[in-house]
Amino acid sequence: MSNAGTGGTSAPGQQVRTAGLSPERYHILREKGTEPPWSGELLHVSGEGRFLCAGCGQALFDTSDKFDSGSGWPSFTRPLAPSAVAEQEDSILGMVRTEIVCANCGGHLGHVFHDGPLPTGRRYCVNSLSLEFEPQHPEAGDTVLPR
Ligand SMILES: [Zn+2]
Repeated sequence: MSNAGTGGTSAPGQQVRTAGLSPERYHILREKGTEPPWSGELLHVSGEGRFLCAGCGQALFDTSDKFDSGSGWPSFTRPLAPSAVAEQEDSILGMVRTEIVCANCGGHLGHVFHDGPLPTGRRYCVNSLSLEFEPQHPEAGDTVLPR
């Protein structure tokens, strides 16, 4: 009696790569939401690493550019690369602000203000939920160019 090979090839997929954004992340990235201040779990990240877009995985910010702005949101003086983050004017309610989005997928990140510390004088105020933290790998060979 041979019971070998039931022939079923419909193993439950383990390879689904479609981003399963949580409702909270979806709201911020796709509907330009804002998380409550002090709620973000990346606010107190320590150690070196990069912050990736939660929508597409593009590297956006580095911990070396992160500073404590006291605003309750993760804040950076500059993006990892100027091309990683796109800016667009947002004049909702007559208040002109500069929205920042992921240049790759268009996901909403937050806003950039001009009251940051030197040398850039800029404050990239980003929702923690827009980001994923990737601790630095000592031997990541695929890092491209230093800035
Ligand atoms: Zn993205």
